[in-house]
Amino acid sequence: MSKPVVTRFAPSPTGFLHIGGARTALFNWAFARKMGGKMLLRIEDTDRERSTEAAVAAILDGMSWLGLDWDGTPISQFVRADRHAEIALELLESGNAYKCYCTPQELTEMRDKARAEGRPPRYDGRWRDRDASEAPEGVKPVVRIKAPQSGDIVVKDRVQGDVVFKAENLDDFIILRSDGTPTYMHAVVVDDHDMGVTHIIRGDDHLTNAARQIVIYRAMGWDIPEMAHIPLIHGPDGAKLSKRHGAMGVETYRQMGYLPEALRNYLARLGWAHGDDEIFSTDQMVEWFSLEALNKGASRFDFVKLDNLNGHY
Ligand code: GLU
Repeated sequence: MSKPVVTRFAPSPTGFLHIGGARTALFNWAFARKMGGKMLLRIEDTDRERSTEAAVAAILDGMSWLGLDWDGTPISQFVRADRHAEIALELLESGNAYKCYCTPQELTEMRDKARAEGRPPRYDGRWRDRDASEAPEGVKPVVRIKAPQSGDIVVKDRVQGDVVFKAENLDDFIILRSDGTPTYMHAVVVDDHDMGVTHIIRGDDHLTNAARQIVIYRAMGWDIPEMAHIPLIHGPDGAKLSKRHGAMGVETYRQMGYLPEALRNYLARLGWAHGDDEIFSTDQMVEWFSLEALNKGASRFDFVKLDNLNGHY
């Protein structure tokens, strides 16, 4: 029997609930509900300087207004720091990761040299086989994972198909910073694994991260979740949706008097389709939802369509 479906919405609480984030949450929610599974909510608050309680409240509030419920209590990524460090230690012990004692100056030189030679500025793996006894005094190490040095890493994506990354373009990236805190790349994998996430649905700006995350899954011998990377939303002019196109936050639409049903219906149509149907209920969306029907190309935000839909509800 296949595992019960578990999806997650994993926002970084650095601001209001953005239209793009709301759409990601909606697709995760619809898929989980369709499959009789769960949608978890993980607050990615490891960036202590940029994360705020007000943003957490705004995200939860925006989701509730849109009618997107999550299963269980929201999980804070920050409080799981010990677990992230524990897995980094396991990777060190299994020889899949190593401590790197490069000074900032050394890293800058490495980058500048690569640029001057026309190579991509990648970490060159110089601490892969060195011993801590060679470390310069006073440098606290970071932990880097050993990424494959040749061959391909293929992200088997439910929306984009097989996306191939050349191993030579992925360097030994950092999983634990010198202060012992995890990087986004590492924390996400450990959390998704521990939370039993079976399907990762998120923006395609995370596609290259997916290739790096696969390196960690493989090193740990963990199952890689199914992935579906959805194209970002563009503005009417075809450029990535940004503030200059108009309101970005769910809360702003709410204040302007849009109805949650209309915005939800509109967001659903922005990147997903069921034939030519423009107007559908939430129950119909759940019934019809499939990852295969997610669009491969970017969708354009169309304020007129949203207005028309709002008039319908
Ligand atoms: N926290 C990330 C973001 O807000 C998402 C991480 C993920 O979905 O893997 O962009």
